[in-house]
This record gives sequence, structure tokens and C-alpha cells, in this order.
Amino acid sequence: MSVIGVIEWSLRKKNQLPETFKFCSWACMPKESRETIYYEIKGGTPHTIKSGKNKGRDSWKGCQDITTFFVPVHEAKEMAVEYEVETGNCYVCQGEGKTVSGMNFVSGEVRYRECSECGGTCKPKELFQGATQ
Ligand SMILES: [Zn+2]
Repeated sequence: MSVIGVIEWSLRKKNQLPETFKFCSWACMPKESRETIYYEIKGGTPHTIKSGKNKGRDSWKGCQDITTFFVPVHEAKEMAVEYEVETGNCYVCQGEGKTVSGMNFVSGEVRYRECSECGGTCKPKELFQGATQ
């Protein structure tokens, strides 16, 4: 997981997005810049692909309600604080205590390592707890 998961969590809550709404893409913006100024996140209500090799997967093709959200980096940080206060989980691993360190697209194998933010405790750092007072 990453900060994107936290942004999705926050957008879902703030906009009261239904369960059927799913996020389909995100990007660090602006594209030409080395530094991220804001995140562009898109989502909508997907339909399930009924045939072919991607059968059973979600598809947003032809989706009528694609919504684009723009989230400045400083807002994403506020969301992270809010997430930690509300859920009591570390925002980086989102309570899993581990983060993805590698992925093999051929075998589908995913490797994990201990979350560097919380050291696997899943609890927020004091830094964030203090930031809200
Ligand atoms: Zn963590």
C-alpha cells in the first residue's frame, strides 16, 4: 500500500462514494515535473468483463460516471494524518505492517518487507499523532 490507498480512503469518505465505485487509475502530476505537486486519481462504476482473457475483471470502458479527483500533495498529507487518527493504523502499510517490495508479473508472486514507517507495528508514528493536537 501507499499514500494512494489513503487518498482513496479519504475521497471515498468525503464524497460518500458507493461500494460499487472503484478507483481505476492514479498518477503523480504534473507529468513533466520531477516533483509531485498533486495526484490525479480517477474512478467510476466498472462493469465485469464477460468473456475473453480478462473475463471476471473490472472494466471502466464506456463507463458513464468517470470522475477525476485532483489532490494536492499537502492535502494528501492531511489525509494521512486523518487516516491515522481515525483508524489508528500506520498510513504507509495501512495496518498491514508490511509493504510490497517486489512483484513478479509472470508467476504472480508478490514479495513483502516490513513497513519502514512503523517497523511492522502497524501503529502510527508519534509525529503524526502530535501533528493533530
Ligand atoms: Zn506501517
